Amino acid sequence: MSAELAIRGGTVVDGTGSRPVRADVGVSDGRIVEIAARVTGTREIDAAGRLVTPGFIDIHTHYDPQVLWDSSLSPSCWHGVTSVVAGNCGYSIAPTRAENRDSLFRTLDKVEDMRFDTLAAGVQWDFETYPEYLDTVQRRGIAINFGGYVGHTPVRVYVMGDEAYERVATDEEVGRMAAIVRDSVLGGALGFSTDRAGFHIGDGGRPVPSIVATEEETQALMCAVGEAGRGIVRHGRRGPVPGRRLAAHRGRVRILTGGVMSPSPAASSVLAGLDSVRAWQEDFYRGLHQHPELSHDVLLALHMDQELAFEHDHRFVAWMSV
Ligand SMILES: [Zn+2]
Repeated sequence: MSAELAIRGGTVVDGTGSRPVRADVGVSDGRIVEIAARVTGTREIDAAGRLVTPGFIDIHTHYDPQVLWDSSLSPSCWHGVTSVVAGNCGYSIAPTRAENRDSLFRTLDKVEDMRFDTLAAGVQWDFETYPEYLDTVQRRGIAINFGGYVGHTPVRVYVMGDEAYERVATDEEVGRMAAIVRDSVLGGALGFSTDRAGFHIGDGGRPVPSIVATEEETQALMCAVGEAGRGIVRHGRRGPVPGRRLAAHRGRVRILTGGVMSPSPAASSVLAGLDSVRAWQEDFYRGLHQHPELSHDVLLALHMDQELAFEHDHRFVAWMSV
């Protein structure tokens, strides 16, 4: 059989857990049509000495600004990543009013190690809302798949201005923030993200706005995702996310927590964390989905430090199938 494209001579790791095999891969009409010892194609790629794998999805990135000047999203694309999720930790770059752009860049400079001058040179501000931002991304074009959360920090600054760094919001302001989150998700955001870990310092050496927010505010914004009827909440918190209000949205809000992220994770504490989250969930919020986010650095550290693969632990399998 001859395919439009044959990737030949590589070692196929198909992502199912099967052993790697030497095989050719045929692609026609954008789909894999054959995996066999010998496949020929109208066009052929020599993959000898290389791995041939499905594309990787990187669920935790901060490409929100970079996508506006680097459509290839390097270096992720060099590593086989074909889909990225941006806007993590509460840091999208929309919605942002003109008067708050520099402040946002100063916060990103501190929190995410993006240099202010690079951001100022690279971001052309032809958007204000999150849906307008996505339109801009699409108009500029992109080599790999891109999606993002709308972030707590810019949403708060959009409503409260610089006071977002200083004070608790009024009920009226929380209502406006919730409407923005809902409209952003309905306008294409993958969900809502926040940073509640408590250690991030932003513009002017002040705690980032999402940390200044009360738990009530945070839950109201998480519930806005439930009201939109789709989307994911990425909650930068170690351990389970509290909140009776969320119970009303059980089954409609999926939450990724930062619960297993740690500078030097030990497998035992990770799994203990999973157990405690599960027990808590079953105890009170049955049916409200929470998944620990397993970042590549955690997995890499585990593989280097411990002879433990998550997928071989029944607790992990049970957890991820919730
Ligand atoms: Zn992050």
